[in-house]
Amino acid sequence: MAGRDYPRTYRELAVKFPDEAACSTYLEQLRWPRAFECPGCGVEDEPWRQTRGRLVCRRCRHQSSVTTGTILEKTRTPLTTWFEAAWLVTTAKSGLSAKTLERTLGVSYRTAWMMLHRFRVAMVRAERERLCGLVEVDETLVGGIDKGGKRGRGASKEVVVIGVEILEPKGFGRVRMRRIPCASGAHLVSFVCDVVVPGSEVHTDAWKGYGALPKRGYTRRVTNLSTSGDPAHVVMPGVHRVASLLKRWILGTHQGSVASDHLQAYLEEFTFRFNRRTSGSRGLVFRRLLEQAIITRPITEEEMTHGYGWPDRNM
Ligand SMILES: [Zn+2]
Repeated sequence: MAGRDYPRTYRELAVKFPDEAACSTYLEQLRWPRAFECPGCGVEDEPWRQTRGRLVCRRCRHQSSVTTGTILEKTRTPLTTWFEAAWLVTTAKSGLSAKTLERTLGVSYRTAWMMLHRFRVAMVRAERERLCGLVEVDETLVGGIDKGGKRGRGASKEVVVIGVEILEPKGFGRVRMRRIPCASGAHLVSFVCDVVVPGSEVHTDAWKGYGALPKRGYTRRVTNLSTSGDPAHVVMPGVHRVASLLKRWILGTHQGSVASDHLQAYLEEFTFRFNRRTSGSRGLVFRRLLEQAIITRPITEEEMTHGYGWPDRNM
């Protein structure tokens, strides 16, 4: 593995990260590429090393560990298990459900679910670059979302707004998506402002909710679906394609059982995966996920239970 700091295969994963110490060292390299930086006083210096991965600052004696202040903080799950989970999440073509992770790793369902959820929170932080060029934007209804135990019929539908970069001469670039309470102009326009670079061309249908885009610095291309005579998948191929992949993923990988409070977290996972679909190396995506996890702040119990706030604007 000389010259390459990520594993290429499951076997290499086991060889490279046989124990907690190996995982800690790797996370340290991802978190502090230059030198350990004390969370207490901010000084960069090689720390004293104690048992159980404890790092002690030579300057202020502050005690920490590589996971302090990150989304991996206070976990009772061994780092080797986290690494294996990260590998499975990034190498499974469509990701995996908590149920599958529970079986594969031999952990409890709750642990499997929390690991996946924390990874999803880390994933949103990886998607900071705004879309540009020609971007299709449209809303879709994601149905069968579990709102307190119900599924299928009787379960509610959620509005999701999707932005997709359209490449020339053909193909799709990156995507961004957000669950919104309703398709009002306020929600649609603030989504575009958050995820698309001003000056870009935004392709929408004739819905007046998008009317304020030119005032916000975007060129708006409008296709009136009801008068164009073409079905949506012809006129807006990007969002149509992504919406159908998203729905298939929720139904397939997650058997349609996505709690509405957590829908945004699932959208982030889908986005992370979609935006890396052409990456030649799964190992690189694995490293990217751990890299994000080790710089993402912890989430609260409240956020774990009732959904994460996804504060795009404050990122
Ligand atoms: Zn210090």
